[in-house]
Amino acid sequence: MPAPLAALLERATALHHDLRFESVRAWKARTGGLALGFMPVYVPRELPWAMGVLPVGIFGGGDQLEIIRGDAYYQSYVCHIPRSTIELGLSGSLDCLDGVLFPATCDVIRNLSGMWMMQFPDKFARYVDVPQDFSTSLGGAFYRHELMDIAAELERRGARPLTEANLRAAIAEYDANRRAVEALYELRRNEPWKVPTHELYLVLKAGMVLPVDEHTRMLDEYRAAVVADVERRPMDQARMLLTGSFCEQPPLGLIKTLERAGCYIVDDDLIAVQRWIRGDVAPLAAGRTALDAVVAAYLENGVPSAIRYIDQDRKGRDLVERVRQSGAEGVVFCAPSFCDPALLDQPMLVGALDAAGIPWTSFKYAENTGQFQVIREQAGTFADSIKLWSGA
Ligand code: SF4
Repeated sequence: MPAPLAALLERATALHHDLRFESVRAWKARTGGLALGFMPVYVPRELPWAMGVLPVGIFGGGDQLEIIRGDAYYQSYVCHIPRSTIELGLSGSLDCLDGVLFPATCDVIRNLSGMWMMQFPDKFARYVDVPQDFSTSLGGAFYRHELMDIAAELERRGARPLTEANLRAAIAEYDANRRAVEALYELRRNEPWKVPTHELYLVLKAGMVLPVDEHTRMLDEYRAAVVADVERRPMDQARMLLTGSFCEQPPLGLIKTLERAGCYIVDDDLIAVQRWIRGDVAPLAAGRTALDAVVAAYLENGVPSAIRYIDQDRKGRDLVERVRQSGAEGVVFCAPSFCDPALLDQPMLVGALDAAGIPWTSFKYAENTGQFQVIREQAGTFADSIKLWSGA
């Protein structure tokens, strides 16, 4: 591997493993700014960034954290990310954060917001009740009010005021970032051997702690490096769409296992906040403010997902469309154990795939799953069956 590419991946790997958020601590020491954590799946990062506040994605402890106290807070039939997040909080790893946003992803994250308020009463903790009504006059007005509330609280805690100019600038930076992410997904669709998903994942995840401009540079540099790397050649792998991993993330070893089992992952919902809005936020219609654009992006351009209460047929149609657009030959439902939103939607999505004649398989994981042999056999068999029999 060329040295600059190896160095870039080494940096992304170090950020992935850094559960003390040292890069965030360094950024705060350098700039004097606030840092605002957020849980999956979606918050509009443009808003804090416009106020000089670094948005920081919290994705649990992965497979590197021993849970000692976190298990006491949750029943055994709840997913893993809230217990590792509590563990990180109680151990002081997250003390560099001046606050945390808990978007209305599911009951687990809502309950986590309450625990956070009790455990860390001096910190800003906010349950962001994103609307499930997608009209401008109702859901839009409510959402705008939520965002203004958050901005007011950040300003009370020392952030600079939210203005039209600084929000427009932040939107432009995040739009550039979304386009860079999309360019990598496009490259992976076209030449998946150039962009292994275990690498793409690390580069995307770096964006959860880096300032957005720095992350966009990393994405661009990674893309240029893999395009130029002539050692990366195609192999006879089956093209898969991976879905269900939008909140608690699979361990990196699981992604590598799928690839070693003969799968090219050509679409996914990993680190979903970066692709939650389709297209740019920026288009500012006449008379629309920057905040209007942020609200409209959520209402109109959010991806059809398990945490969006919309017509189930639309979600099924969207998945089938994503399969077609990515050229995937099969779908892997890969969801966290006990993830209500992902697992409740899955039967409807399976129905849509079956109706469209698209093969699929499914399994579950926890962020700290350590044994992949069964998954390797299952995914390998699925990939082989597609290569041998699908459409032949
Ligand atoms: S993994 Fe699923 S159930 Fe658990 S917090 Fe995330 S969305 Fe909620």
